[in-house]
Amino acid sequence: MSKKTKIIVVGAGPAGCAVARAYALAGCSVVLLEAEPEGKSHKRFAGEWLHPQGVEALQQLGFESIPSTQGRPRGRGFVVYPGHGESPVKLDYVEGQRGLAFHHGDLVDEMRQVLAQTDGVNFRFGVRVVSVDDGGVFLENGERLEADRVVGADGRSSVVRRSLRGASPHKAMSAMTGILLEGVKAPYPDYGHVFLGKPSFLLGYEIAPSVVRICVDVPLKYKTEMKDPEWLITAIRETLPPVWRQPCEEQIRAGHLRWQANHFLARADYGNGRRVLIGDAAGHTHPLTATGITNGLVDAIQLVQNKDFRVFARNRRRACRVPELLSRALYDCFSKEDAFSNSLRRAVVSLWRNDERERDRTMGLLMGNGRSFFSFAGPFLKALFGAWQGRDQSTTMRADLASIASWIRLPMAYAMAGWVRPKS
Ligand SMILES: Cc1cc2nc3c(=O)[nH]c(=O)nc-3n(C[C@H](O)[C@H](O)[C@H](O)COP(=O)(O)OP(=O)(O)OC[C@H]3O[C@@H](n4cnc5c(N)ncnc54)[C@H](O)[C@@H]3O)c2cc1C
Repeated sequence: MSKKTKIIVVGAGPAGCAVARAYALAGCSVVLLEAEPEGKSHKRFAGEWLHPQGVEALQQLGFESIPSTQGRPRGRGFVVYPGHGESPVKLDYVEGQRGLAFHHGDLVDEMRQVLAQTDGVNFRFGVRVVSVDDGGVFLENGERLEADRVVGADGRSSVVRRSLRGASPHKAMSAMTGILLEGVKAPYPDYGHVFLGKPSFLLGYEIAPSVVRICVDVPLKYKTEMKDPEWLITAIRETLPPVWRQPCEEQIRAGHLRWQANHFLARADYGNGRRVLIGDAAGHTHPLTATGITNGLVDAIQLVQNKDFRVFARNRRRACRVPELLSRALYDCFSKEDAFSNSLRRAVVSLWRNDERERDRTMGLLMGNGRSFFSFAGPFLKALFGAWQGRDQSTTMRADLASIASWIRLPMAYAMAGWVRPKS
């Protein structure tokens, strides 16, 4: 690739900044187009936890000042609180690797600052792309820009994706609200916390020393109730650790909440080579497993490294399939309320509590270390068997079998998708 290769990147979120930087380092001429005016990124409630693979990607792209910022928490893994007063279970990243936690707006601002000083990048803020074709893009003001490749890093409502496939078929999963607590500590400051309980589960982690982000997942069936602050306070009170209750209630009553909808779109389609999709534009899942930003950064590096677009698309489809399946299965396991799913939740926690290999395996899968469907299927069947043995005897066999059937449907769909060639 040379300066003659012209690349347009739509969107300067984490994935767009990463791919613009990677192309510029490879010697291309890059136009990076961002709809937001400068300085607006702090308003967003989005990803604030990066897996070790994502930290490595930042370093590889020359964003090393971001992970090395003093005081920025380096996560060791996750602590799962099963509820009912049971002690928590720790899941550590394998081989002592470390993730990273931060304020989303800080990450995006810091990446954008690096881009503004990167040779070969023409960074334009406050310009919205309204249509895209194989030769370039049209901006809101009618301006036409042409390029050899347009990279859609424009998030979940991607205009680049729409230009290729029409309206996105992504599926709403839940709503999530973010609450920021200042001057409090997390029980395990180096870990992300998952509290199982009501209304489904809460996530909590320090994004700076003594600054805790809490994310409350609210199933869509509560979409009317969730607008009432008193309902929210009551719904999460028992699930929150006692030290966070009062500050959390104060923030909710003061209306200091940021809401986001969570959607699912399988990562099966990366575009056609002239118009390429990366990051959330390529696919997205529930934030429970915190894979979105890491995926976007790795997409960026691999797109630029692979001369052949088809090899890039095939590799990314393969690498993301098992983490995506794990994310969906864990979300269902932590949020479904029927008796068999409760039993499955207990079985999964017990598997993690009693077996170090299973803990390592789960964390490895999360980080994309298992590409084969069987790396997921083995532990999944073990958990299913444990759930069957420990199921609540007051429910009917028929109800349990129906629940098992619904649990098997998802991995089967993924196994089939692995054998069926996706459209390119
Ligand atoms: C509540 C919540 C919590 C999350 N937690 C985590 C987490 O802990 N860890 C994690 O890894 N992920 C998490 N995620 C997911 C993560 O935020 C996303 O995966 C990530 O932000 C995607 O990055 P991206 O660059 O692909 O897209 P985005 O971050 O959405 O950036 C897209 C950019 O494109 C711009 N844009 C859009 N349309 C246009 C247009 N037409 N023209 C020009 N510019 C345009 C937008 O303004 C934006 O700046 C979370 C998501 C949510 C909602």
